[in-house]
Amino acid sequence: MSSEPIALADRVLQIAPSPTLAVNAKAKALRATGADVLNFSVGEPDFPTPAHICAAGKQAIDDGHTRYTPVPGVLELREAISQRFKEDHGWDYDPDQIQVCCGGKHGLYNLFQAALNPGDEILIPAPYWVSYPPMVQLAGGVPVIVPLDEEKGFDLDPATLEKYVTPKTRGIVLNSPSNPTGAVLSSRALEAVAALALENDWLVVSDDIYETLTYEQGVLPHILDVEPAIKEQLIILNGVSKSFSMTGWRIGYSAGPLHLIKAMNKIQSQSTSNPAAPSQYAALAALSGPQDFPKVMQEAFAPRRAYMVETLNSIPGVSCVSPGGSFYVFPNFSAYYGKAFYNHAIVDSLSLADYLLDEAMIATVPGVAFGADDFIRFSFATSMEVLCEGMTRLKKALEALQ
Ligand code: PMP
Ligand code: GLU
Repeated sequence: MSSEPIALADRVLQIAPSPTLAVNAKAKALRATGADVLNFSVGEPDFPTPAHICAAGKQAIDDGHTRYTPVPGVLELREAISQRFKEDHGWDYDPDQIQVCCGGKHGLYNLFQAALNPGDEILIPAPYWVSYPPMVQLAGGVPVIVPLDEEKGFDLDPATLEKYVTPKTRGIVLNSPSNPTGAVLSSRALEAVAALALENDWLVVSDDIYETLTYEQGVLPHILDVEPAIKEQLIILNGVSKSFSMTGWRIGYSAGPLHLIKAMNKIQSQSTSNPAAPSQYAALAALSGPQDFPKVMQEAFAPRRAYMVETLNSIPGVSCVSPGGSFYVFPNFSAYYGKAFYNHAIVDSLSLADYLLDEAMIATVPGVAFGADDFIRFSFATSMEVLCEGMTRLKKALEALQ
């Protein structure tokens, strides 16, 4: 018997575990040992799933919805999603053009597996959500990172974008409101993306998972409204995790051109088969029932957002763009790089996040995980008491740096 460990696939060696989930696990493990850790790391609403949705999930089990469902999800749920697109946006997507999957993350996975060939380049504006580059890599694609400017509120600058386009560019990922910055892309940026995409036959991925959590007046600009002709090249990714506080139910959905959805169904049929049946019925209750819950959450998040932005900007050397949506703030701490606290040298976002966890007992996600090392992400999906205590600890920890 050889003592060598079993060899691993090259594809898995190129990627790291999700850093957001890793920090969350570390914070929870520390709490379990009795440590007074405040968790600003993971992005999940601090609300229970609404009672009528839980009841629908339980009822589904009692009604015998405990077996395989059609691969793309039960028809009633796809009809409800189709109806939401129509009522909320005026968009027409047939149930056949919709796939239900095991969370928004899984929609992205199915998409890239179905659409990318080796070497295909996908433009990813940075700061980006942690899972985009590894998901592209796992499908053999090449993530091409397009930097966004804090000074421009993290909007996408068309001139910068063009610099990263090559003959191998196959598509672009849009995420508005964004995780981690909360930035909302302007109509001007979306128009420029649409023009380039139409000219070059790109796939446009619109990750709309935070669409119900916006803080600004007016309608959220969307590429499909800005340029309806993009529809045949557009895939919309969404889910109930954030909008209905259903992160553990694992239901996401995608809508796009029929041939692409069919290809994604092929991948799903050979991998997960279908998302859990009771979860699909719970999502049906969420999307076809009263639509006031996302607003209730948004109203709870609004004062927390205001408090975080104001407090962070009042700290010497820190700048924080006000997020137009989501429940994250992404302040710039680079003025503190080069300082130290005894044996803690602060040289980058990782060392700062480690210091904050060790010395201030606050768990955050270092910006490097999002492709932006000057920053640290705080989720404000937690109580005002925790936010206030966390900001007090943060200020003290930063003041201690020499
Ligand atoms: N997209 C973005 C930008 C996210 O932040 C998340 C958060 N997990 C997802 C997609 C996927 O969410 P989930 O898989 O929990 O539905
Ligand atoms: N999207 C959330 C976050 O960024 C959940 C964790 C994850 O799926 O990465 O924290």
